[in-house]
Amino acid sequence: MKQPLFALIDCNNFFVSCERVFRPDLAHRPVVVLSSNDGCAVARSKEAKALGIPMGAPAFKYKDLFRQHGVVQFSANFELYGDISDRISRLLTEITPHIELYSVDESFLDLQELDIPNYTAWGQTVRQRIMREIGVPTSIGIATSKTLAKLATEQVKSLPHLRGALDLITGSVEDRANYLRATPVRDIWGVGGRLAPKLKAESVFTAFDLAGMSPQRAQQLMGIHGRQMVEELKGTCCLPLEKMTKVRQTVMHGRQFGEDTNDMRVLEAAVASLTAKAALRLRSSALLARGACITISTNRLKPGYQRVNRYLTFMTPTADTGVITQQLMTALGTMYNPRAQYHRANVLLYNLQPEDSLQADLFGDVDLVASSQSRHRMQALDAINKRYGNNTIRFAAEDLSRAWQPKRLLSSPHYTTRWADLPSARVSL
Ligand SMILES: [Mg+2]
Repeated sequence: MKQPLFALIDCNNFFVSCERVFRPDLAHRPVVVLSSNDGCAVARSKEAKALGIPMGAPAFKYKDLFRQHGVVQFSANFELYGDISDRISRLLTEITPHIELYSVDESFLDLQELDIPNYTAWGQTVRQRIMREIGVPTSIGIATSKTLAKLATEQVKSLPHLRGALDLITGSVEDRANYLRATPVRDIWGVGGRLAPKLKAESVFTAFDLAGMSPQRAQQLMGIHGRQMVEELKGTCCLPLEKMTKVRQTVMHGRQFGEDTNDMRVLEAAVASLTAKAALRLRSSALLARGACITISTNRLKPGYQRVNRYLTFMTPTADTGVITQQLMTALGTMYNPRAQYHRANVLLYNLQPEDSLQADLFGDVDLVASSQSRHRMQALDAINKRYGNNTIRFAAEDLSRAWQPKRLLSSPHYTTRWADLPSARVSL
């Protein structure tokens, strides 16, 4: 068997980079993206990091600094980021179908079946292609284990002379050792803030030190996970690629409201909209749900915190927004307490199965006729929304109120997913 070979493609400051795709004027300015009702920074440009703005910085605390340095703020525009992430995945899938979508901005590629004479040059070509076709800068690390590939991308980000790609396979042993020495133990994939102090107590300060630890000792300290980390840092693959063919287990959509509320119409509108999103996600993965759970809660930080759940089972597994919404509304009615000020709602669909595996059961509880009608109805709805834009046709309950929507006062347009938000260009001849 050939030795495993991984590339990690990691987008730089992903949310900020997505905003810059359509705002090239922001190229060298400090930019932050805010989440949770514009409460805190969830992404920062290089320039914003240099100003000392930490991850999760509360916007109100840094208001003066933002103003003083002209920091440009955006409300998180997840529709845009999700779409750009999908475009990058599609491009990478053209390079190889052996891909693991690890997070919204990181993918591992298995390079074993590709014929690559020079890994660094290959990495730089991929990077340039993503930049040219999508407009997002990336860092690429190439190694024989995922942990080393991850370490390589972190080095790439801090060393501009690497020009975006680092190959830990071809170089000399001494070169590789130096990159490991330059990586603090806290920054190793899988270590983090909890294990770092334990390792420092053992005089393990860098990735190089950890690679030199005996696997037995690592296992005593951190369990099997620690042993794997040591092996992976030495270049032995213990964590194989997790393909995207894995069947999804649950779909969840949740929202914190713009303001706390006890208005039943606001709750109904929120639950209807969250259900519509979750059911659409099911249909686009060709799945049906047998179970749903709805949760509403008050603010955890205020006195008298309440959180209520209801679980529902569908006799006929379904992905029909109308059917699921109707049942969740009934459940909501039984959970609602008029004296509570609700802060958040979640809709979870679980017990999922592929839509083509639906079978009639012995007792006739599964209604195949209704199920096929429902499937056609949803196909028509999705086709119209795909053609004319999201939410062109929707369930009336979604429109009972907009008051639940989180505050996103600084959001950029939905450039790539709404016709009305398409950017315009002026050309003068
Ligand atoms: Mg990233």
